[in-house]
Amino acid sequence: MELETQQDAPEAARSPADDVSAGTEGVRATREGQAFRKRCALTGLRVTQQRVAVFESLAACKDHPDAEQLHARVARAHPSLSMNTVYRTLGTLVDRGLVLRVACVGSTARFDACTEAHDHFYCIVCNRVLDLNLATAPAGVIPDAVREVGDVKQVQTLYVGVCHHCRK
Ligand SMILES: [Zn+2]
Ligand SMILES: [Zn+2]
Repeated sequence: MELETQQDAPEAARSPADDVSAGTEGVRATREGQAFRKRCALTGLRVTQQRVAVFESLAACKDHPDAEQLHARVARAHPSLSMNTVYRTLGTLVDRGLVLRVACVGSTARFDACTEAHDHFYCIVCNRVLDLNLATAPAGVIPDAVREVGDVKQVQTLYVGVCHHCRK
């Protein structure tokens, strides 16, 4: 476990408006939020109101929003949370493996609170990213050609096409 480092903006330089009020919101704890706090502790990441707020908003939806969409949702409950903070927080959470960045779809990064191995279907018409519950993941066999290029940290399969909703 590493020592506490200022991953985000230094505390002093952060605008107070950036911090989510710790008022009554502070005691709110969804099941996802509680699990998230535990996982933060395991990875040595300090639990902050804004990290919890961003994670809970992401966990509350299954549509793999981009940072802007997520910010719009977080801002409903926490109007003081800036777009920059959401970006920065997502970056931190992805780095710590607490949030998944969906393998390249379109031009904007999409995020997922579910970090268990699962695949996605991306619709090129409506831009939706859908979870695929494939019973058997492809056995974790990394082809030699991949290993020659580098160490694999994660395998994500992305199926790209037109969803049934858009085909009608
Ligand atoms: Zn579609
Ligand atoms: Zn997903």
